[in-house]
Amino acid sequence: MRQPLVAGNWKMNGSRAGIAELLSGLKAGIGQVTAAEVAVCAPAIYISDVQQQLEGSAFKWGGQDVSVHTSGAYTGEIAGPMLRDFGCHFVIVGHSERRAYHAESDELVAQKFAAAWAAGLVPILCLGETLDEREQGATESVVARQLDAVIAQCGIDTVGEGVIAYEPVWAIGTGRTASLDQAQQVHAFIRGRLAQSNQSVADGLRILYGGSMNPKNAADLLAQPDIDGGLIGGASLKSDDFLAVCAAASD
Ligand code: PEP
Repeated sequence: MRQPLVAGNWKMNGSRAGIAELLSGLKAGIGQVTAAEVAVCAPAIYISDVQQQLEGSAFKWGGQDVSVHTSGAYTGEIAGPMLRDFGCHFVIVGHSERRAYHAESDELVAQKFAAAWAAGLVPILCLGETLDEREQGATESVVARQLDAVIAQCGIDTVGEGVIAYEPVWAIGTGRTASLDQAQQVHAFIRGRLAQSNQSVADGLRILYGGSMNPKNAADLLAQPDIDGGLIGGASLKSDDFLAVCAAASD
């Protein structure tokens, strides 16, 4: 049985005061959430505030990106051990915005996955196709290529210690959610691909859906057999909405 995971991705949003308010809303409502694991991935500069407010609560927290290096002359980068220093449990790797705007290749994402795991973080590996790729019928080949790069770099057992998020790029921040069938089909494909390397990793690994998941559509998406939680952008910026998605994952 895979425990559902709901992780918020705040992206580059918020202010110190706004995040303090969001965190107190989350802490006040956490009682509704029983069965699911819940986390927020904050902009790096606010992680210390997040740690101070969430320490001792049921929430875990994480970063949104990690360097492949552990220290040194890499201006602007944040190393895995630094994230661990501030209590991070998770880190997102290979988010489509990083692939698109920072030219992160499949190989770099795979190295980031390895660096995160080596630092003791649980990497949340994002996979997903663009609208063009979907329209060309390339969804499965794109997702397989992105996943295979990480399996090749890290080995299937290490991949099994992370989390996967299927995030169709055309559904992120657009209000356009994948249909239940579209989402379930790709999740099942990813699980099948993992099973080609190791059946027990495939059975145990959590595959989250991300792409305009919100309180209205969460329960239906989460009821799909291969959807084990959500990576939530926009709806994680309002405590009531995020808690409603977390509660749907706990039902
Ligand atoms: C995301 O940023 O990973 C995401 C899924 O965003 P949204 O929920 O806003 O589509």
